[in-house]
Amino acid sequence: MKPIKVLEYNIIKSFQMVKSDIAKLQAEISSLSSTLSSWSDTINSVLEQQKEFIDEIDELKRQISKLKAQQRSTINGLAAREKKYVSSVNSKKLHRADCVFAKNIKEDKKLFFSSRTQGLRKGLEPCKCIIT
Ligand SMILES: [Zn+2]
Repeated sequence: MKPIKVLEYNIIKSFQMVKSDIAKLQAEISSLSSTLSSWSDTINSVLEQQKEFIDEIDELKRQISKLKAQQRSTINGLAAREKKYVSSVNSKKLHRADCVFAKNIKEDKKLFFSSRTQGLRKGLEPCKCIIT
C-alpha cells in the first residue's frame, strides 16, 4: 500500500472507532435515562404511600381523641351516677351534691366525685357543707 493509502485507511478506521464509541455512549445514556425514569416512578409511588400513611395516622389520631373524649365522659358519667360530691370547672370548691352552692352550678360545668377524698386529692377546697 502507498503511504497515502495507509493514512487514508487509518483515518477511516479512527472515525469508525469514534462512531462506535458514540453509539455505545448513546446506548448507555439511554439506559441510564430509563433507570432514572424508573427511580422517579419509584420515588413518586413512595411519596404517594407516605401521603396515604399520613392520612391514616391523622385518621387514627382523630379516633384516639374521640375515644379519649368518650372515656372522659364515661368516667364523668360513672362518677355522676353516684353524684355524692360536686365541684365546678370554674371553681376550686368541693361540695356535697345536696349543697345549695352545688345546685347553683350549671349541669355542663359540674364535675362529679364519688368520694370526698377523690375531690380533695384534685386540690379542691372543701365547702362549709362538707366540713360541718
Ligand atoms: Zn357546699
